[in-house]
Amino acid sequence: MPHDVTDQVVADQAALSCASCGGHCVFSPLQGKLECSSCGRLYALETIHDADAAQEFAYEPDAAENDLPELTRERTYQCRNCGGAVLFVGAALSEQCPYCNGPVVLGPADAGYRTKALIPFQTDPGFARRQMRAWVARRLAAPRDLPALLEDARLAGLYAPFWTFDSHEALRYWAKYTTGSGDRRRTHRTSGSMTITFDDLLMPASAHVTPLIRDGILHDFDPAALRPYRAAYLAGFAAERHHQSVAQGLSANAPDKKLLIRNRIKRHIDRSGVHGIRYQTDTTGIHYRRILLPVWIAHYSYGGKPMKVVVSGIDGRTYGERPFSRLKLIGYAAALSAAAIVLGLAWGAGGLL
Ligand SMILES: [Zn+2]
Ligand SMILES: [Zn+2]
Repeated sequence: MPHDVTDQVVADQAALSCASCGGHCVFSPLQGKLECSSCGRLYALETIHDADAAQEFAYEPDAAENDLPELTRERTYQCRNCGGAVLFVGAALSEQCPYCNGPVVLGPADAGYRTKALIPFQTDPGFARRQMRAWVARRLAAPRDLPALLEDARLAGLYAPFWTFDSHEALRYWAKYTTGSGDRRRTHRTSGSMTITFDDLLMPASAHVTPLIRDGILHDFDPAALRPYRAAYLAGFAAERHHQSVAQGLSANAPDKKLLIRNRIKRHIDRSGVHGIRYQTDTTGIHYRRILLPVWIAHYSYGGKPMKVVVSGIDGRTYGERPFSRLKLIGYAAALSAAAIVLGLAWGAGGLL
């Protein structure tokens, strides 16, 4: 798209310039402060309103959300340091000026659906690299060249968009279960009703947030760690803005919620061989938050296949996709069958890889 039809956007670049020397400031995860990359001066970011960041909002299905951000439009910002044009493409929320390298983060008015809160990065790239190395060292059957590949992988810090959802479910279910075996095998019908309260269900708010990223972050999510959306927390990091309406977010994550409900029903029935579950639920009290969560991502490719390792920017929990070495797999399979004979534990074999 040519530049003359792009929209102008607002960024609070002044807040990211050092008051002492005019240098660029970026967020320092270890200090929890904005840090001048020229003179090292630190700027505290806490405000008396920080606790408001954990606030939840009631979902009103009939209220139209018409501030839908147009992700297809390119938008420009004129750098106040050097006058260069900084282009915001798609869902990007945070950029660096290509001319002076200064961080540019969109202001709240231009942050798409109003992203109200985030958990700031608490781990630095060095820590993320050490976590990745430890993760590789624990992998059985990984090819010998994988550690070297990961050392060379580009590591990026990204704020990824998430939802938290609360709801109350009053549901009625019907299911079958089996008892006995062989000739004594019987199928029974059962039904019942139960209520479920979901609190702070963490759901991805973008197709870019893969299960890998979600599961790397899900662990120990604590709403008390949320801070109000401020450009300073994003300075120096990539970020994706919220671009789903609440209705879109709810329907995109409906399959995951169904899975959770079915598991609760199985626990409620508390018998083995439960199948053929059907249910109807009356959902009320939906509350949501639009938040950003920090994640380190290292991309690498193995045998031409793109793969990645993700490290939580909160607690360092690490997940990854990795190739298997065929030779090592055969070795482990042999060792396992020997152990399986001794221990009679053949079932666990798949889980160890
Ligand atoms: Zn400075
Ligand atoms: Zn610039």
